[in-house]
Amino acid sequence: MSASDAPLTESLSGSESPLLSAWERLRELLRSRIKPEQFAVWFHRAALVSVDNERVVLAVQNEFSRKWLQDHYEDILTDAARELLPGHAPRVEVVVDSERFLAQLPATPPTNRSSAPARPPEPALARDSRALALPPGSANNGPGLLISSDVGLNTKYTFDNFVVGPCNRFAHAAAMGTAESPGKNYNPFFLHGGVGLGKTHLLQSLCWTILERNPDARILFLSCETFINHFINALTDGDLTKFRNKYRNVDVLVVDDIHLLANKDRTQVEFFHTFNTLYQSSKQIVLSSDSPPKDIPSLQERLVSRFKWGLVTEIEPPCFETRMAILKRKSREKGRELPDEVASLLAERIDSNIRELEGSVTKLIGFASVSGLPITPDLARETLRELFTARRGQPSMENILTLVTEHYGVKLSDLQSKKRTNAIAYPRQVAMYLARQITRHSLEEIGGFFGGRDHSTVIHAVEKMEELRRSDPSTARLFEGFLERLQAPRS
Ligand code: ADP
Ligand code: MG
Repeated sequence: MSASDAPLTESLSGSESPLLSAWERLRELLRSRIKPEQFAVWFHRAALVSVDNERVVLAVQNEFSRKWLQDHYEDILTDAARELLPGHAPRVEVVVDSERFLAQLPATPPTNRSSAPARPPEPALARDSRALALPPGSANNGPGLLISSDVGLNTKYTFDNFVVGPCNRFAHAAAMGTAESPGKNYNPFFLHGGVGLGKTHLLQSLCWTILERNPDARILFLSCETFINHFINALTDGDLTKFRNKYRNVDVLVVDDIHLLANKDRTQVEFFHTFNTLYQSSKQIVLSSDSPPKDIPSLQERLVSRFKWGLVTEIEPPCFETRMAILKRKSREKGRELPDEVASLLAERIDSNIRELEGSVTKLIGFASVSGLPITPDLARETLRELFTARRGQPSMENILTLVTEHYGVKLSDLQSKKRTNAIAYPRQVAMYLARQITRHSLEEIGGFFGGRDHSTVIHAVEKMEELRRSDPSTARLFEGFLERLQAPRS
């Protein structure tokens, strides 16, 4: 940059044109640093609010874009701003100024743009605002991401933020492959797996990638529930045409949690037609589900077979190393690194749900910073007590009763009877103790399962068993074994 910074800085205040030319220069600098698609998505709609030697302030249209720029473009922006103001080290701030953008939107579609007020040329007016800035509920028929009424894309759900391990490597690669050339490689792309394993994260990463490569892509991302609700509303209002226009005029349709179509016959028929229309015109369809197509209850055979036309991929629960890597990544994102011993403690305890893993990091780090205590295994045990007791898929009272009756060879009716012989009372107390350890039932509720005993009886049983567990190693081992079995993931 040859222009001197001092005059620029001074002349900027209160005058619009130097600001505009500074913006033009900054845009050029940005353009030279990033891909044209990225520029089109993120910077065409931004505006320069002010510049001085210390601060460069950009405005974007919503919190979502602000966060995205901050998370992904901070270094690039800072570099560009320094080049704009040589000899200075300005901070770049991104603020939200939705008014500014509302004012810029044309009242009519962008055919009469020649009469737009003087401001930097914008070849794709509102392109990214269409893509990203629409408030929930906005209708949108222009290019870019069509935000459905209930789901916005999460800026954190990108491929970059996804920790890859043996459990999800294939799913990750398949999602990337789908995003590479939508409608071609894998159509439909069907991703299935248990709760909290990263399905939604991968689906949204796929959308971001498509959008980054092609800001004009018309992507509709929604939960199956939304599809069902919209369909019911359309039926009620007698407005199926509008509904169909919306769902069938897209380049990419992503329906999260498609297993919710189970037992919804009419919606299944509608989805079948939506699927066919999109598929026939080589539009990409992406679906996620908690189970493979054939296991979705009462899913029509023709849908089952269509869902298998492209690529069906499973995302599996993460192995220990992947869990460790995820814990490290999530804690780093929150600004604190977990010591290895704490990370491995959590990775051992939470073995099947990444959302839970993430929740535990948030809670632990939150507690550590509020209390000022160091993050130690003890603090983890204390803060995440429920994890160390009630974990993995919440075993039910029924599981406990089955286990205990089988192990001790007693009948359920015995446990629930008034009998007090040791052969019955002991297993009953064990069962109460286990229930206290691993279910969320109150003392009263637990008593209720055993013939309506009161809470003091349960307390007595729990204390007695706790004492035994402490004093007698073989009882301790037996109880550990029970807890292990009860907490093993159920299929
Ligand atoms: P699902 O849709 O399968 O129930 P989500 O995609 O909502 O699961 O994932 C739950 C949480 O775990 C999200 O916050 C997501 O970012 C995180 N997560 C899942 N898998 C990974 C991964 N491999 N790397 C990083 N974060 C992940
Ligand atoms: Mg999900």
